[in-house]
Amino acid sequence: MFLFDQVIFGPIHSRRLGLSLGVNLLPIDAKICSFNCIYCECGFNTTIKEFPFPTRAQVREILELKLTQMTGAGQFPDVITFAGNGEPTLHTDFEGIIDDTIALRNRFCPSAKVSVLSNSTRVHKPHIFAALKKVDNNILKFDSAIDRTMKLIDQPIGKHIDVNWLIQHLKQFEGKLIIQTMFLRGNYQGEYIDNTTETEVEAWLQAMEQIKPQQIMIYSLDRDTPVHNLQKVTVEELNLIATKVREKGFEVSVAG
Ligand code: SF4
Repeated sequence: MFLFDQVIFGPIHSRRLGLSLGVNLLPIDAKICSFNCIYCECGFNTTIKEFPFPTRAQVREILELKLTQMTGAGQFPDVITFAGNGEPTLHTDFEGIIDDTIALRNRFCPSAKVSVLSNSTRVHKPHIFAALKKVDNNILKFDSAIDRTMKLIDQPIGKHIDVNWLIQHLKQFEGKLIIQTMFLRGNYQGEYIDNTTETEVEAWLQAMEQIKPQQIMIYSLDRDTPVHNLQKVTVEELNLIATKVREKGFEVSVAG
């Protein structure tokens, strides 16, 4: 499995995002998340409890140094993305780190977007909700509108997480969010999973109509997964789903 071994990684050139600098707020040698998705590129959660997170001061210092070096060499990032070895909002200073990042972005590269990839499980915490509202791209995971499927795919750790909970909390962003959905098929622990069926897509579209995201990103498997019986959904199938999304009036991007 793939783990980020630094707090700041990149910059990486991407056709879709441009020059992208990544921020990993999780420990550099373990994956920690409030989901345990069967498709997670970082593998399953660590069972070891004590791993040090980088401090707010460390993140600010490392990011400032990186941006000083990059902009000094004429390299201006198009996007600063919080991703990494698990769920970034698990960091206890998440809101402060977002504030620092926005201040550094304004100083060094004002046209860069700040993006957060989160799994939506901590949006009920007022400081997390407030922080996510401040970023340019608030990208939140929603993998199925059918509870059994969501729980099989995402394996939520918190007992409070179900589809209805997610929809009610995501609605509170009043459209200032981007939904990201992984489509896949496969077997896990004797259960068959397929979130591309007509019933699944119909329920998922109805959830999108309630949540009203500004954009929807759909994708399928790309790298190795901790569960081996999973199948990638083809770009053609993703495009068929995307057509239905557009018919509902949403902007959608497909990464096959
Ligand atoms: S939410 Fe993201 S980091 Fe967490 S388990 Fe799922 S894919 Fe991995």
